[in-house]
Amino acid sequence: MLKGKIKRDGHIHSPYCPHGTKDKMESYIETAIAQGLEEITFTEHMPLPDGVLTSRLQKECGLVPQEVQSYFREIDLMKEKYKGQIKINKGLEVDYIEGYEEETKSLLNLYGEELEDGLLSVHILKVEKQYYCIDMSQDDFGLLAELIGGVEKLYDRYFETLLKAIQADLGVFKPKRIGHPTIVRIFNLKYPLDYKNRVLLEEVVKAIKDRNYQVDFNTAGLRKPFCNEPYPSGLFLELSKKYELQMVYGSDAHAASDVGSAFELNLLR
Ligand SMILES: [Zn+2]
Ligand SMILES: [Zn+2]
Repeated sequence: MLKGKIKRDGHIHSPYCPHGTKDKMESYIETAIAQGLEEITFTEHMPLPDGVLTSRLQKECGLVPQEVQSYFREIDLMKEKYKGQIKINKGLEVDYIEGYEEETKSLLNLYGEELEDGLLSVHILKVEKQYYCIDMSQDDFGLLAELIGGVEKLYDRYFETLLKAIQADLGVFKPKRIGHPTIVRIFNLKYPLDYKNRVLLEEVVKAIKDRNYQVDFNTAGLRKPFCNEPYPSGLFLELSKKYELQMVYGSDAHAASDVGSAFELNLLR
């Protein structure tokens, strides 16, 4: 059952995720233990600031504020229950939303004392004063690409936003690991592009390096029918290796059975 040398899954969701399964935290943890993992982090989506998305979409994207404390307290119980078997970190996956830096900082200041680990991710792009999720549906991705002038422009906008995320002042509790840094490729088999903007990608990678941030080496893309690659991949991955960025495996499991998924492939070896 042991899955090679990787001992840590730094990106796991929970039953509190509105777009995930209702699998119990115990099931996630027991899958991790069965695979020989020694450390995991629950990184549920932090509530989004009000006003970014419609309230219906907002409820789909992350924790509702009223549940954050229950989420934290349940992790505390799990730490106690599985003490000596596995290290469990309390975390959040925080969205960087261009134009909502102050609101995000306030939320982080509210929850930050609890956090032991975390991720900063870009799922939402600002285009002409409107906000769009890039990873929810292939049709929406296509429409956004059209709106912005093509798939390559959409990649540009994504990586420009990622750079802003890395540079943003989000306060002392800003997460230090960048979530799935090429998630813009989630539908790449449907919208193929060999993205070659080395200047921009190198700027992003250097910005991560300069701050001593880490990268979430995320295997979820391998489970997506129109992706079939991890994040990062391609040129971004090449540059991450060149600059010796610290990478932490993350399954991005939204179901217990996906904990540690594809870690046995040892893709970073
Ligand atoms: Zn999610
Ligand atoms: Zn994410």
